[in-house]
Amino acid sequence: MLIRSGDTVEVITGADRGVKSRVILVDRAAGKAIVEGVARVYKHVRRSQKHPQGGRLSKEMPVQLSNVAFYCATCDKGVRLGARFTKDGSKERFCRKCGTGVGQIAPAKAAHATGSDVKKKAPAKAAAAKK
Ligand SMILES: [Zn+2]
Repeated sequence: MLIRSGDTVEVITGADRGVKSRVILVDRAAGKAIVEGVARVYKHVRRSQKHPQGGRLSKEMPVQLSNVAFYCATCDKGVRLGARFTKDGSKERFCRKCGTGVGQIAPAKAAHATGSDVKKKAPAKAAAAKK
């Protein structure tokens, strides 16, 4: 799961389909996220000390993460994300569609630095060529 709070996502299904908004909170255990202005409901509250006027409170309900997609500014639409190592060995998220990196998710690590992913891929290609 590569969507994080603060990301801009596009809602891809449901009543709020097409809405682009910011993720406020991600609940990994439930697989849900609260997205600003999406799945907004009104809660009716009685008068109390906290709400002396009573009335309606507006809040967002969590939405299933499968119903939102990371919004890629380059592609101008909701996309799927991948994770990859960069040359310096740090891990980053990227847009599966256009390949643009969208931010580091792990610090640089020597073990993953330059060429480590190239080495991993090369034997696989060689094996395929033999067949
Ligand atoms: Zn993209």
